[in-house]
Amino acid sequence: MKKWQNIKVKTLRKLVKLSNILGRENYHLAIIGEGNTSAKVEVKDIAGSFYIKASGTRLATVTENDFVQVYFEPIMQLINMENPNAEEINYIFEKAKVDKKYQATPSVETLLHAICLNLEGVNFVGHTHPTAVNRLTCSKSFPENLKGRIYPDEIVLLGKESVFIPYTDPGVKLAQKVKKEIEIFLDKHGERPKSIYFQNHGFVALGSTPAEVENITLMADKAAEIRFGALLTGGINAFSEDMVTYIAERTDEKYRQKLFEE
Ligand SMILES: [Zn+2]
Repeated sequence: MKKWQNIKVKTLRKLVKLSNILGRENYHLAIIGEGNTSAKVEVKDIAGSFYIKASGTRLATVTENDFVQVYFEPIMQLINMENPNAEEINYIFEKAKVDKKYQATPSVETLLHAICLNLEGVNFVGHTHPTAVNRLTCSKSFPENLKGRIYPDEIVLLGKESVFIPYTDPGVKLAQKVKKEIEIFLDKHGERPKSIYFQNHGFVALGSTPAEVENITLMADKAAEIRFGALLTGGINAFSEDMVTYIAERTDEKYRQKLFEE
């Protein structure tokens, strides 16, 4: 087997495993066809591409056949299209397929994944609809009750702050909005986000490894549970910005090492 084929196979295997984990029934992160996952295929001198979950498949049970490999370049054309219709989107999805004979349709959130995977250090992306997180994204106080940081591990896993997206139609419009908000975040914080919350919709984890995506998602889910509890017992007691910066600098390296041990 050629070296690049080997990389492809390994990436896809890791992505299937991550997807099945995120789909676990007892995790309450995604049921039925909810959520989607992706992974960058990084091979030198070969046009950039990524694997994306096919539309209508279930995270808990997806297999290698439920992912479509697409090139970044055609997908990214959608960024500048104002209100493309279903036919135009389908045409671009078909054009982007690495294997044109492959029947499966890429997820409606393919552009969102392309945008996230284009960020430096992001190799795997997991989008889910966690029950605990959506309690807060669907509350009237969004995004206030998800803002700031409430304990050290939340800072290390989810970053110093998250990106918050007001409710937007899933698909191209949502992805376009996410791109704009990520740019604002990069300007403000000088580093890429690790976590994105969608109002009345769900969550995105951006990781360098599948383990990081899993850990970010589980930590967001736990933080949402704690925030919900804190709201019922007097209110959320968030760290000051200075404290968040101090903790981030103190613990970042240690935790990063831990993440990569897997
Ligand atoms: Zn979704």
